[in-house]
Amino acid sequence: MIKVLSDRCVNCNICKEKCPFGAIETINNKIHINSNCKECLMCVKSCPNNAITYDKIEKKKTNLIEYKNVCIFGQSMDKKLEEITYELLTKGRELANQLDTKLILVVIRELKEEDIEKSKEYGVDKIIKYTYSDQYDCMIYAQFLLDFVRKYKPDIFLFPATDIGRELAPFLASKCNTGITADCTKLEIDKDTNLLKQTRPTFGGKMLATITIPDNKPQMCTVRQGIFLAEKVKKNEVVDIIEEKIKIEQEKNKIIIDNIRKQNKETNLKDAEIIIAGGMGLGKKEGFELLRKLAYILKGQIATTRACVEAGWIDKKYQIGQTGISVKPKIYIACGISGAIQHTAGIKNSNYIIAINKDVNAPIFKIADYGIVGDLYEEIPKIIKKLGG
Ligand code: FAD
Repeated sequence: MIKVLSDRCVNCNICKEKCPFGAIETINNKIHINSNCKECLMCVKSCPNNAITYDKIEKKKTNLIEYKNVCIFGQSMDKKLEEITYELLTKGRELANQLDTKLILVVIRELKEEDIEKSKEYGVDKIIKYTYSDQYDCMIYAQFLLDFVRKYKPDIFLFPATDIGRELAPFLASKCNTGITADCTKLEIDKDTNLLKQTRPTFGGKMLATITIPDNKPQMCTVRQGIFLAEKVKKNEVVDIIEEKIKIEQEKNKIIIDNIRKQNKETNLKDAEIIIAGGMGLGKKEGFELLRKLAYILKGQIATTRACVEAGWIDKKYQIGQTGISVKPKIYIACGISGAIQHTAGIKNSNYIIAINKDVNAPIFKIADYGIVGDLYEEIPKIIKKLGG
């Protein structure tokens, strides 16, 4: 806490000039520190008379033992849980089993009964519902979740790495005075400490960093879509559903006109059932037109490798792989793609991989279920013709 010693202060106003936050004002001829203060200590350092002092108040330490259970934030749209929630529930169930604890789903907004039933098939033990009918607003959602953290004290709290999750989770983490790891691709429990080991690519994917949060709870992270497969477990018939209510404080001076979810069917790769991906074997950016034609006939979507993105042939939003998107289509057709590990890391959950490559030794054939050794400019038109295109 910053204090002004009035017997030493001579009203020289140097502290006022130095304060970068406008946190110092003169009231009745006395210097006061207002609520803008960020404790940067510029005033303490700049005062020539040592008239400003600072006593560090230790933040209350979290009682870690009180924190139990694995919790998942269930992101919903139109009363429907988004698919990634089931991926997180599957992973959450695995972690909860290892820790011999419960799996809790927390939702804000109303949910359809069938969605609640479906979440039971993914091993949820308890559902906490906060009903809120307005648009998503980070400040308001954080109030619900802060209440949830205080009441239910989760040990682990997982969020989807969606636009909402990426905004909400760090905001909440700072309110809870805990740590967060963004965009995790691997989660496991450390056998010695029971801490959550959170792994994510770093330095543009060149390294993997494994992070733990030993001193605070909950241990929070966001998880990329398509990393963990959603898998049903034995349905939990006895699931507590608890409705929580809190009084929400509306932010002043804030107007949300509308929240619009951009519908871009072509780049909704995470949910695509058929993906036709092109690599450097296309030879030129115009090559993607051929893939688009095939994608149109198969009702699929196009994708690419990092090499094509770096060549400037196509936007990064189409990039699959370690530093791109992870996908789980029924069919992945790799055209002129060598099969580098950084690319195949993003397609390992595909049901079938079909590769077209003119090099019989291309690594992609090692993971492909079906392979065509040939020139894509000859093979794809044949497929299109066969499909009546
Ligand atoms: P190439 O490796 O050049 O392969 C082209 C293939 O096309 C060859 O196998 C060739 O035989 C074949 N071919 C050529 N002409 C034809 C034709 N006419 N018909 C049929 N076949 C043909 N890559 C990703 O994709 N995603 C990532 O997220 C990613 N992250 C990375 C992160 C790091 C840190 C690093 C270092 C690399 C990363 N990469 C990533 C790059 C990756 O290592 C490869 O360089 C890249 O995937 C290769 O792309 P490609 O298969 O399109 O090109």
